[in-house]
Amino acid sequence: MCAIIMGAFSCGGPKQEMQDVKNEDFVWVADTFDDVRVLRYQVPGFDQLPLNEKLFVYYMSEAAVCGRDILFDQNCRENLSVRRTLEAIYNDYNGERKGAEWNAFTTYLKKVWFANGIHHHYSNDKFTPGFSREYFEGLLAALPGGSLPEDLKEAMGRIEAVIFDPEVMPLRVNQAVGADMLLTSAMNYYEGVTQKEAEEFYAAMADPADPTPPSWGLNSKLIKENGKLVERVWKVGGMYSPAIEKIVEWLEKAAAVANPTQRVMVESLIEYYRTGDLCEFDRFNILWVQDTVSNTDFVNGFTETYGDPLGYKASWESVVNFKNREATRRTEVISANAQWFEDHSPIDDSFKKEEVKGVSAKVITAAMLGGDCYPATPIGINLPNADWIRRDHGSKSVTIQNITDAIGEAAKGNGFNEEFVLREADRERMATWGGLADNLHTDMHECLGHGSGKLAPGVRGDELKNYGSTLEETRADLFALYFMGDPKMVELGLIPTLDVAWAEYAKYIMNGYMTQLTRIQPGKDVEQAHMRNRKLIAEWCYEHGMIGNVIEKVTEGGKTYIVVNDFEKLRGLFGALLREVQRIKSEGDFEAGRALVEKYAVKVDPTLHAEVLERYERLNLQPYTGFINPEYLPVMENGEIVDIRIAYPDDYAGQMLNYSKHYSFLPSQN
Ligand code: ZN
Repeated sequence: MCAIIMGAFSCGGPKQEMQDVKNEDFVWVADTFDDVRVLRYQVPGFDQLPLNEKLFVYYMSEAAVCGRDILFDQNCRENLSVRRTLEAIYNDYNGERKGAEWNAFTTYLKKVWFANGIHHHYSNDKFTPGFSREYFEGLLAALPGGSLPEDLKEAMGRIEAVIFDPEVMPLRVNQAVGADMLLTSAMNYYEGVTQKEAEEFYAAMADPADPTPPSWGLNSKLIKENGKLVERVWKVGGMYSPAIEKIVEWLEKAAAVANPTQRVMVESLIEYYRTGDLCEFDRFNILWVQDTVSNTDFVNGFTETYGDPLGYKASWESVVNFKNREATRRTEVISANAQWFEDHSPIDDSFKKEEVKGVSAKVITAAMLGGDCYPATPIGINLPNADWIRRDHGSKSVTIQNITDAIGEAAKGNGFNEEFVLREADRERMATWGGLADNLHTDMHECLGHGSGKLAPGVRGDELKNYGSTLEETRADLFALYFMGDPKMVELGLIPTLDVAWAEYAKYIMNGYMTQLTRIQPGKDVEQAHMRNRKLIAEWCYEHGMIGNVIEKVTEGGKTYIVVNDFEKLRGLFGALLREVQRIKSEGDFEAGRALVEKYAVKVDPTLHAEVLERYERLNLQPYTGFINPEYLPVMENGEIVDIRIAYPDDYAGQMLNYSKHYSFLPSQN
């Protein structure tokens, strides 16, 4: 418990001064491989927290790391077997640890760690190993006895097929039209169940008359047993019990040091983990959304449903955090004016909320990332997801500023804008206002965008099915974009000039239309909800602004650029599209939603794509970013924790191996 690991520090010097490391001297990039760069992030303000809050953060952070295996298994049932096999080789192989194939092997392992499995975290495609099956078998054969657990040895034929055969489990989530989305996806939320069976199973559970329906299916795997559909619930005593028991142990410690409000909330979460009762989960969420005063906060549980093609089942994730008081003033202004924004939204009046409730927003400092938030992490969070809780109790929105700051610091001077932004005026606006614009966009997206608007009577909210996530993100982004260019923003003191909005507009269109394609492999469609949403907005606005030349495709020196000529008119287009996307959501108009997404958000122009990839490659940058966590080290005196110190490790592989050794509680097959 009290071990302070000296080797964990990236540089020498007194430990208590780690917080005072200047940004210029802090090494932000910990590792790069393939299309990924792993950064470190700082946790400014942790040292100044009172001891009970430090303890709360520490205990919740331990709980955050304990769910890692759950996510691996949720992403694909072979992930833990593959990870453990690779780690056994990485730890114990005594032969030559160099050369092209060894390097390809370590890169593959780093990618599996990063994606929490064998499929790319963003594109969903299975990784192709850069080493041969023969080489791999040679590594295995040379392992000392006992290095590989018996169950893995016996399963090696299956594990090798999973790694090397491109036909086996090629996609984690398949959303292609026409295919059975469950049978063709490698995610582990269903087994032996067709899409039609699953849809009927959950349709039968839904009670259209229930104004407060539980999130059916959220915390279970649906399987077939003796020809009957049954849920294996993720709870103490159920599926994933060994990991959930550990999470509960740390939550109990956290409850003991929590303030009274948080104690009740953490106890409710523990009860939910013990019973698997989704009504208890709703109770927890209501308590959680009502707590806007505690300085520390957390997400811990089965939360987001992006990994289930049907959108029922949630991946496990955690973020432990505390308030960034300085920056929170910005979001408080936004929240205080939530009703003004709702009233002035360009959507149809019948879809506006008469009373926007409980839009609480804050800027936070992330202290620990876990599960589906690690190592790749969101920069903003808006929860809970249940529509009726949002309607009756509001939602809580956060912008994670120490994460965006780390990204900004690491990106300085990388040559990206020089390559892709044509006009000097745009580059200057981005350099001056880009940081504020990014943060403000996230604030508006999270604390107003998702929370605005309402459903028409009789609409449940799940009608848009596999297009729901993309359209919901589109809606939230459009809300943010539309209002960022409103003079009201200047009047409220949120921005000193509309140049902040224009910096965001130019960057958003360029990214959605062109530069985000750096994340897509040649010949592939755009799959991920946020990327689809950005493409949808950029391409729709390009097409609908053609007459006024609002957005222009310029070719100069053989290079393609996408340039916004008229920011005011672009704002009008954002408003028009927001109106339509809100209508689609409010009316549950599946056909219109499908048509929008399929026309603008999925297919890639191969010529432009090839050009973007080629230009990007010359910059030698990685399109994906993730983070290694800090470490929290208890300082003991007479058997009691008297302080928690923070350390910033800089070894990505070291952190992954440490987690696999000390925080791995599940068997390889669950
Ligand atoms: Zn969102």
